[in-house]
Amino acid sequence: MLLIRLLSDGLPPTNQMTAALTNLDLILETITDGILVVDDQGTVLFSNNSAEQIFDRKLLNTKLAIPISPSSVPQEINLIRRSGLGWAEFRSTPIEWENQQAYVIGIRDITERKLSDERLLQAATVFESTREGVMITDLKRCITRVNRAFTDITSYTEAEAIGKSASLLSSGRHDAAFYAEMWSSIALTGHWQGEIWNRRKCGEVYPELLSISAVINKAGELTHYVGVFADISQLKATESRLDFLAHHDPLTSLPNRLLLLSRLDHAIEISLRDNKMLALLMIDLDRFKDVNDSFGHLAGDELLQLVGQQLKSRLRSIDTVCRLGGDEFTVLLEDISQPEDAARVANEIINAISEPWLLLSGKEVRIGASIGISLFPDHGTTPVELLQQADTALYQAKAEGRGRFKYFSEELTRSARARMELEVRLRRAITHGELRTYYQPQVDVHSGRIVGAEALIRWQDPVHGLIPPLRFIALAEETGLITPIGNWILNETCRQGKIWLDAGLPPLSLAVNISPNQFMNSNLEEIITGILAETGFPAERLELELTESALMQREAEAIEILNRLNALGVRLALDDFGKGYSSLAYLKLFPLHALKIDKSFIDDIPHHQDDMEITAAIIAMAHTLRLKVLAEGVETQAQLEFLQTQGCDLYQGYISSPPVPAEQFEKLLRAQG
Ligand code: C2E
Ligand code: MG
Ligand code: MG
Repeated sequence: MLLIRLLSDGLPPTNQMTAALTNLDLILETITDGILVVDDQGTVLFSNNSAEQIFDRKLLNTKLAIPISPSSVPQEINLIRRSGLGWAEFRSTPIEWENQQAYVIGIRDITERKLSDERLLQAATVFESTREGVMITDLKRCITRVNRAFTDITSYTEAEAIGKSASLLSSGRHDAAFYAEMWSSIALTGHWQGEIWNRRKCGEVYPELLSISAVINKAGELTHYVGVFADISQLKATESRLDFLAHHDPLTSLPNRLLLLSRLDHAIEISLRDNKMLALLMIDLDRFKDVNDSFGHLAGDELLQLVGQQLKSRLRSIDTVCRLGGDEFTVLLEDISQPEDAARVANEIINAISEPWLLLSGKEVRIGASIGISLFPDHGTTPVELLQQADTALYQAKAEGRGRFKYFSEELTRSARARMELEVRLRRAITHGELRTYYQPQVDVHSGRIVGAEALIRWQDPVHGLIPPLRFIALAEETGLITPIGNWILNETCRQGKIWLDAGLPPLSLAVNISPNQFMNSNLEEIITGILAETGFPAERLELELTESALMQREAEAIEILNRLNALGVRLALDDFGKGYSSLAYLKLFPLHALKIDKSFIDDIPHHQDDMEITAAIIAMAHTLRLKVLAEGVETQAQLEFLQTQGCDLYQGYISSPPVPAEQFEKLLRAQG
């Protein structure tokens, strides 16, 4: 200031002054702020380089529209420049310049600062007003900032969140590998985006779409992480609702054809892999049209809903009930063990649907059902094929008079119906007392005396006559009827045995066959205890015949059951030895008393050297295991003689007697005196 004044005073320059002026020039040209001198009209009397750069033009002798009233605080003006709009701040001070009143103006370009202020303001507005949650963390993933939406979504306030680890929000639904992958993507690309389950403060887990970015400063250093997320639970819910609508029947909410096809596809794949069978039942309601016609469509709809619920409640959870439209339903039965299983279900469905239905109006309606069945893999290997074959079978079932099921193949239909009929009759046989016990003598090989008997069941059918056990035991096993049948013969045998004992006949050992199912799935020990107590037959006179197949399933459990039976004092025999795995070493595991050699080994004695050797070996080895040996199915003298020479203990067979009714057996006993 001093120098300018000196200059403006018009004094002749001294050397010192010239040097000072040169320095001043240099200062003015070096300074990055603009320096101008204008007269009171705004005409530029002096400008430095920086001022011209700020205005982006030559200034000397031009007029500037700049308010020159002095002020101590900087003022702002807009700059109109060739390169665009800008901002500057300036301050002016009055001076005297070459004998006139002038102003010196210091001016600074603040365009950059203004722009970045504006951007910051915008960013801050976005940060606070966006509906996406935003969370900023430091490099240790500690939360340093959150926005309002963060609080809206997570329910954590800013104060609760800041300083906490970002894992505050973890739902626990993702494993460590998931997070490891996420962070390695961020490390690699600076970014990660995906769907993630997080947890709100209240504990609720929700899905969010999250995008995480690494923040890098100008020096290229990682400084923060920014996570932006949207709560997509609404979206998901809508999505799944839409998905449900696309795959279900709106009236019954049961799966529709589309879903059936995809389930079938999947079921076929699994059945192929596990070598399993599946059945498709196509159900059509009989007389449904009558309900619609006489009670109206609302009643019809109600009935369809009731039928849908009924079908669903009767099936296992793995089975799929669908409504294809109209009065057509399908049932997909997965993992069935034989074709008849499907017939059984079909029959149950037919019976259930034939029951009267009570509608809300109080009206009672009756309908029926016809069912077509196709099986995988027998009748088709694709969903479409199976549907077609079931449909064809359904058509035939209806043609035959409704209210029945039909398989795609005639043969299966026939055998399934025969079996079901047999089952119905067998149930009746049990309650009507049509079962009989026959006794086959067990004879001492050396003395030739009857020392016991095997009880063998017969079915005295009023129409078909005497039915042998091989015709119905397997069915009884499958249907669970074996338990009442088995209990009946046990009771009957002990009751008869006690009568013979009381009659003073020589004490006998009475053997009863126990089927695998009965052995594993009933409380045999309890049943036997009860029967022995009730009949008064001594435990040590009762022998239970078990098969290898019963013992081999769930071996450890089998040993336990045997031990408990053994503790009751009953005897345990292994039936049909030689038919199954037949490992004598294996038998050591089981607490057995006797071994019955299967008839197939006895049959070819004395013609087959092999069978004779095997029989001899079985007898010898069984004896070393301290088991009594009984030969089954002895029919000839030659067989008996062979058994005598080999030291076999007992035998059963037609050579002595076939199985006979109790009175006849008693006669045999009395005859031997
Ligand atoms: P199993 O226990 O091996 O019974 C021996 C079978 O061989 C009996 O047939 C008997 O009549 C027959 N048999 C005996 N000696 C001879 C012979 O010299 N020649 C020929 N050809 N056969 C002979 P059955 O009574 O028809 O019984 C067949 C199978 O049915 C029995 O084989 C047994 O596994 C089963 N069974 C019979 N009754 C019952 C029962 O009450 N409960 C259970 N779970 N199964 C039974
Ligand atoms: Mg037997
Ligand atoms: Mg046998």
